[in-house]
Amino acid sequence: MSDLYLKIVNTPVGKTAAQSLGLPSPVPLNRWKRSDQPFIEGNVLVGAAAGAKAIGAIGSVLGASAAKVQHADGKDTLKDSAKAGNKAQPLDINGEISEKFSALVFDATGMKSPEDLRALYDFYHPTIKKLGGNARVLVIGQDPATCRKPAQAAAQQALEGFVRAVGKEIGKKGATANLLWMAPSGDKQLDSSIRFFLSPRSAYVSGQVARIGKRTETAPTNPVAPLSGKVALVTGASRGIGASIAETLARDGATVIGLDIPPAMEELQKVTDAIKGKALACDITDAGAPKLIADFAEEHFGGIDLVIHNAGITRDKTLGNMPEHFWDMTIAVNLSAEELIDEELMHRELLRENGRIVCISSISGIAGNFGQTNYSTAKSGVIGYVEAMAKQLKNGITINAIAPGFIETQMTAAMPLTIREAGRRMNSLSQGGQPVDVAEAIAWYCNPGSSGVNGNVVRVCGQSLIGK
Ligand code: NAD
Repeated sequence: MSDLYLKIVNTPVGKTAAQSLGLPSPVPLNRWKRSDQPFIEGNVLVGAAAGAKAIGAIGSVLGASAAKVQHADGKDTLKDSAKAGNKAQPLDINGEISEKFSALVFDATGMKSPEDLRALYDFYHPTIKKLGGNARVLVIGQDPATCRKPAQAAAQQALEGFVRAVGKEIGKKGATANLLWMAPSGDKQLDSSIRFFLSPRSAYVSGQVARIGKRTETAPTNPVAPLSGKVALVTGASRGIGASIAETLARDGATVIGLDIPPAMEELQKVTDAIKGKALACDITDAGAPKLIADFAEEHFGGIDLVIHNAGITRDKTLGNMPEHFWDMTIAVNLSAEELIDEELMHRELLRENGRIVCISSISGIAGNFGQTNYSTAKSGVIGYVEAMAKQLKNGITINAIAPGFIETQMTAAMPLTIREAGRRMNSLSQGGQPVDVAEAIAWYCNPGSSGVNGNVVRVCGQSLIGK
């Protein structure tokens, strides 16, 4: 689905008209184009508070990038960037800054008290106006839940407010701001997450916090096809977000089983044929669905690695006007079926070591939405399910959720015009996301290097004003 306003406002006449009328002027977002594309280019500036623990990880990731890396602390703390081949240069940020930055990365892991927060101001105040279009702000802190002293927890929690506020200020440039909270001594787990949040793959992810814990699986040996050898199940794969997830996981090397309801078979077959995958006709709410899926995975592949519960429906009505089958269907498709499928796969030990389960929630599940008591209930239940399962899973298996905001699909095309336009614009980037934005975030969860990412709910919503 196309966003006509975005196109018009990016013509010379449209831009002037929007400015004079005070209308939003969304910037077209850069998205990932080719597998061999550098994850970041241009000028990247790195800063750190005293006691920084993630600087080595930042240095080794950026050292292998195509970016010109500079550091603002006056000391060459980015030793790993030199080791990796791309040596960081010092930059006096209190002097004249001539360049535009494609990313401003700050290691705040060493912050121990609220006084230390001043280092954020010192780094970002002179540089934030030099942020280019589609640029990235990335802050790395320590998970407050792992801080023993309240003063340290306060400083680390404060980073969330900082990043969310910055995201709102820089969104008009198509730029994003995000926060990674690592576990103590967890810097070895950061690689795939730093790459994702600095790259065009996270174009529509802003104002988000990801917790990165202990990693069990090693980083992929082939960064161009990190999922090679993995088998993925994608439900609802015939169109919209599901089709894009199937294509993105296949691009990253996975073999995909695409699943959809029998009436969608023709469309599904087109998607799976194009990626050399397999199509499975199945209504996930049928009593026999979990067994059918498990049998299929066992027969064709001997098991499964990645389970993406994407299929979803809306059946909107205000609660008093809602027929009972609207309630039942919405809960069954969006919530119960996921749990029953996982149960069957686990029970038969078909989900392999270092497997991944990804569920799709929604910002409606976080904030609630008018006319969607059924859908909001189900999508909120998804979050509860993910958080509880994350604590129980073994063998390196992780579970995470994506909560999309307004994504341009047939589901959102069916909305009344005024609600659709409001959904598109009410976020820091003033536009809707594309299905691929959700798919890229799922590919990040599925990356072998992301095995420390567990129990997260990351919103792909352009930092929607709705909800937290
Ligand atoms: P869509 O309606 O375009 O696609 C959903 C797919 O799920 C369809 O192919 C459909 O046939 C399939 N499906 C529905 N019921 C099924 C069943 N019982 N068994 C098997 N397959 C079934 O929707 P979309 O916009 O691509 O959404 C994908 C997911 O993202 C859904 O879970 C949705 O709730 C969620 N989501 C979407 C948005 C958005 O803005 N589009 C926002 C938040 C969350």
